[in-house]
Amino acid sequence: MGSATMWSVFLKASSSRTAVTRALGRYSQRAYYGSAAPLRMQRIPVPALPGTQWVRVRNRVAGISRRDLATIELATDPRVSPAAAHQPRRVFLGREVVGEVVEVGPVAQLLRPGDRVVWQNGPCCPTRGIEPPCHACAGGNYALCVYRYTPAQPAPTGGGWSEEMVLHERQLFLVPDAIPDEQAALLEAAADAVHTALRRQPQPGEQALVIGTDVAGLLLIQALRAFVPNANIAALLDAPYHAEMAARMGASQTLRADEATEGIARVTGSQRLSNWQGAELYAGGFDVVYDTIGTSASLQSALRWTRPEGAVVLSGHQPTPLNLDLTPIWHAEVTLYGAFAPGMEFWQTETGRGNGRISAFALAASLLRERRLTPERLVTHRFPLREFRQAIVALQHANEHQMLQALLDIVPAATHQAVPAPSSQPYAVKARASMK
Ligand SMILES: [Zn+2]
Repeated sequence: MGSATMWSVFLKASSSRTAVTRALGRYSQRAYYGSAAPLRMQRIPVPALPGTQWVRVRNRVAGISRRDLATIELATDPRVSPAAAHQPRRVFLGREVVGEVVEVGPVAQLLRPGDRVVWQNGPCCPTRGIEPPCHACAGGNYALCVYRYTPAQPAPTGGGWSEEMVLHERQLFLVPDAIPDEQAALLEAAADAVHTALRRQPQPGEQALVIGTDVAGLLLIQALRAFVPNANIAALLDAPYHAEMAARMGASQTLRADEATEGIARVTGSQRLSNWQGAELYAGGFDVVYDTIGTSASLQSALRWTRPEGAVVLSGHQPTPLNLDLTPIWHAEVTLYGAFAPGMEFWQTETGRGNGRISAFALAASLLRERRLTPERLVTHRFPLREFRQAIVALQHANEHQMLQALLDIVPAATHQAVPAPSSQPYAVKARASMK
């Protein structure tokens, strides 16, 4: 049996708190973690395993991502599609997490106590016992399950920012032994980069642009470099301090936002036409542009900077309505792909012999083992779980703290496996960000 209660960080559903926090948040970002906010850290009961294939996981290390921050900052505009979905009573935070299985149901087939696992997907047809599975689950794309909007009964308890998680074994991915905890905690982020890269894999010799060089953009650059070693990958920086890391992760060239206009024309060798009302047209452009930001401005640029018949992959998730000129989609027949979450990917190898479908998590895990994906290099900050608010503040002011990836230690770090020292650690890992 599990310990009776555990510490957990979650958002408590309350329309009045949400409205008040949104209003206060316009004046101060502190509102999102203040006492009036839906966000809380609380001791909650750990349920007994509610199903025969359910497991209990004791978490070790979790990541904190921009998507967690968007959840905390109540960023979902009530007018966008996801806002129509049923809101659970508690939204547990933390998708990037590694833990150890400490209890399994009597007919669990995939996991045993002692296994190290990472969170992989939410409830889906296999965890709900739905036969035959929906189209998405049949293809291994559990994150897109058509039943994901139906409240799960029983529902998982806990997330990455909780001491424990109780969930179905099919929501987890078994971590190979060779991957230490600090890498495994970021396996989900690495799998996400793999998924985004493979939504529209560049062909050898093609020119790609990655817009945004936060953790998601940097890992995407590395994934693209791993898949297409001779692709030309440009990166549009969202902070000057990202330039060195973007180059280390495999960017062929980096462009600052203030030099983007001439930079795009120069890098792609295309002529730029514009008018005084802000319209912009390139006679040419990148073969594929990955927008890891997803605002009106970034997606607008992505569409305009893509060559005729090229592709844009939108992996930045801004849950707000956008206002932009979509004419490149018909005027230049640019294809727009969305990227939501890792699933079963179509992977083309250079020789063409390895073509086929593969799980993004499995592919990311093998790239981690081969050191071709190194998310742990991006870790600049670590906090114990109880200081998660400081982690949020640091991420809100990432530029000031020169922050990339932060980790939360759920159990004291001394009990983790040792991490092999990377050959070059570009940033010193700060014990914690200085708080004002
Ligand atoms: Zn399904």
